[in-house]
Amino acid sequence: MRRVSWFWFLLLFAAIAAIVLVSLFYENAAGETAIIKVDNFLLGTLVDIKAWDQTLDEQAVRAAIQSALDAMRRVESEMSVNVKSSVVHRINDSAGRSKVLAPRSVISVLDSAARVSELSEGAFDVRIGAVSDLWDFASLENPAPPDPQAIAREVRLVAGASVEFSATSGTVYLPTEGMRLDLGGIAKGYAIDVASEALRKAGILNFIVDAGGDMFVSGTRPNGRKWRIGVRDPRRPGDLMCTLLTTDRAIVTSGDYERFFIYEGRRYHHILDPATGYPASECQSVTVIAKEATVADALATAIFVMGPERGLQLADRLQDIECLIVGADGSRCLSSRLGHYLPSVMGLSP
Ligand code: ADP
Ligand code: MG
Repeated sequence: MRRVSWFWFLLLFAAIAAIVLVSLFYENAAGETAIIKVDNFLLGTLVDIKAWDQTLDEQAVRAAIQSALDAMRRVESEMSVNVKSSVVHRINDSAGRSKVLAPRSVISVLDSAARVSELSEGAFDVRIGAVSDLWDFASLENPAPPDPQAIAREVRLVAGASVEFSATSGTVYLPTEGMRLDLGGIAKGYAIDVASEALRKAGILNFIVDAGGDMFVSGTRPNGRKWRIGVRDPRRPGDLMCTLLTTDRAIVTSGDYERFFIYEGRRYHHILDPATGYPASECQSVTVIAKEATVADALATAIFVMGPERGLQLADRLQDIECLIVGADGSRCLSSRLGHYLPSVMGLSP
């Protein structure tokens, strides 16, 4: 009898010690719940998820982050043109021949893309694939612009037939042979939204899903303050242009400094004007703040192509969209409500 009670006493002691150890480990030096951070290489970039929750233990937070990363990996496997088995790859391969069954995610992205295309009067266009395939921004040896005749030929496909897709039948069809989808300007944003949703589903409301500087921020830091997000200076990418303090928003930047090459003294980068097939020339970077990363991603690319004047007009016309544009000459413009919605824009004046 005596031995049994000692056994239970020791077991209870061990359990309490384990709980204390776990909670100590889960708190930082200031006694706040620690932020759990997991990195992964996905969608061609470093994805970094930070999350914390006072009611969940570390293991549960880590499991939620893993499920968010898994959801992003699924988006990559469906939408990347670099993945041979992807749905988008199959859609492109079947152009001019047959419809392809597509998951709801692809249909939803095409739907958002079509809306941004319309809003931007064609500055954003996922049919850009026909042209973007000609450009090689990854080449390290003697990169050069493609043959101008090839660009002129493919630009006609970008401006040609529309992408046909239906949520009811779950199919996508590119009506002309040679047409190619490129979801590179929107899929990352969608993946960020999907990851955010996975974290919310697991009960986590305080997090940042950061995919190479494009992100969604939710809730607060453990000290109750908003998250701080640095916006890079496009000509000094190691330096910050300003810091944003915000919550429950997506912040996405499109810049000419991420993927580019210099040829005969000119910078050629990966954001293409669908009207010409050449890199858009009116901006150095565009940062968009929106309620969803899918919309923010597509709009950042669209506004980059539209340029500061038309881009700012568009942002000011839309609800819950703010932007910060750095023009080709380095001049900076802010959408009219940026200061109002984000009173802590530092280092910049409207
Ligand atoms: P990043 O991928 O570096 O975050 P963006 O979000 O601006 O940058 O997306 C650029 C990518 O979008 C290009 O690499 C290409 O795949 C695609 N793209 C380029 N120009 C356009 C355009 N006008 N409309 C739609 N997609 C585009
Ligand atoms: Mg984009």
